[in-house]
Amino acid sequence: MDSLHYANADSYTCQGVHVHLNSDVVDINPEGKTITVETPDGQHQDSYDKLFISPGSAPNVLNIPGLNYDHIYFTPGRDWTGAIKQRMEEAKKVVVIGGGYIGIEFGEAISLANIDTTIVEFGETIIPTYLDKEFTETLTSHAIDSGLKIKTSEAVQQILGDEDGNVRGVVTNKGEYEADTVIFAVGMHPATDWLDGVVDLNPDGSVVVNDYMQTSDENIYAAGDATKLPYGPTGEKIRIGLATNARRGGAIAAKNMIEGNKYKAPTINGTSGLRVFDYYFASTGIKDINLNLIQEEVESKYVEEPLLPSFMGNGENPVGTLHMKIHYVKDSHRIVGAQFMAKDDVVGPLANSMSIALTAGWTLEQLATADFFFQPEYNRPWNYLNVLAMQALGDDYTFGSDTLLF
Ligand SMILES: Cc1cc2nc3c(=O)[nH]c(=O)nc-3n(C[C@H](O)[C@H](O)[C@H](O)COP(=O)(O)OP(=O)(O)OC[C@H]3O[C@@H](n4cnc5c(N)ncnc54)[C@H](O)[C@@H]3O)c2cc1C
Repeated sequence: MDSLHYANADSYTCQGVHVHLNSDVVDINPEGKTITVETPDGQHQDSYDKLFISPGSAPNVLNIPGLNYDHIYFTPGRDWTGAIKQRMEEAKKVVVIGGGYIGIEFGEAISLANIDTTIVEFGETIIPTYLDKEFTETLTSHAIDSGLKIKTSEAVQQILGDEDGNVRGVVTNKGEYEADTVIFAVGMHPATDWLDGVVDLNPDGSVVVNDYMQTSDENIYAAGDATKLPYGPTGEKIRIGLATNARRGGAIAAKNMIEGNKYKAPTINGTSGLRVFDYYFASTGIKDINLNLIQEEVESKYVEEPLLPSFMGNGENPVGTLHMKIHYVKDSHRIVGAQFMAKDDVVGPLANSMSIALTAGWTLEQLATADFFFQPEYNRPWNYLNVLAMQALGDDYTFGSDTLLF
């Protein structure tokens, strides 16, 4: 795990940043501009001119009986991940509770280590905040064929243990699953309890920041998972826990702390991607699950498209199918979201392109005839994004793309 870092204490130190590990900031005194830090050697105070906070998120914990047994783990966090990795050397039957992004990543990794793994998800589908049903049906069957067990629409009610204090199973509203290890991945909340009364917090516990990432105290700035940023499709601020958002928000906050409030908070679209077994997927903006964020009427179009012309490779549809979906405002045709899935990493650049189109306020008409390169080893004469927009427009606007004429 140590080799998986993009940066570490040394790489910061050599850039002139003083890093204090194992140091818990337990209090902030905004009037005196001091912080209280708890370390293994005791408590001490430090002073600041400007303070930046990025406390991140803490795992949600379900209010169910049986959480005290051994071999129950919570995500995220380096310590939990290290403990889970070590446990995998002995585990034979694992239940992962939560079929979101993190639960699926853990489930896949554990299943690939040839450990019997079951994911139990409360919702109707896995990863509902990233993909709609048209995609998750295919993805779920593929994950099951690849060895992962997936139980959806099941609510975990209790964790069972044996007389030695070890976990032995999970009870849901539909059944019971044997397990010697249980991993919870049921979402996260802002880790801001300790900031209550120091800076203003939103009802969800996130830190209130203005357009410049400045908190209610003019000398304290904040970014990361514990803050909200303007959401591209609506302009309203929302919280999406992604490293991309944390990094951009943090950089903007730092510039503003040094230069005065010159730089505005970045727009976020929740653009993200993942590979699950052989499938890559990536999405941006609005999906069926968060349609309620938009006041206007939104429509969508799902399209399947061969990745390459049929004359490439040795036969028909040589590298498979691209699954695509677009969400757009019914009246204006403004694009508000897109999803892509294929057994090819073409999906990442497509979602990134759509994120730019979305932030720029593009319409279906603009996307339908947008300029993209064509080369038969890469794509098809009508780019996938042209096709997606044309098919959403329908009728006279498909230019033959619906019948793969050219
Ligand atoms: C398994 C997993 C995979 C992920 N994969 C991706 C991905 O592929 N792409 C992506 O964009 N995002 C990904 N994310 C999300 C990404 O990791 C987070 O969005 C990002 O790390 C948030 O940065 P942050 O600074 O807000 O919080 P964190 O990275 O959580 O950092 C907060 C730090 O503050 C410390 N802290 C908290 N309170 C205090 C205190 N009082 N005193 C001192 N220190 C404190 C914490 O210990 C922690 O180290 C993933 C997350 C997980 C869990």
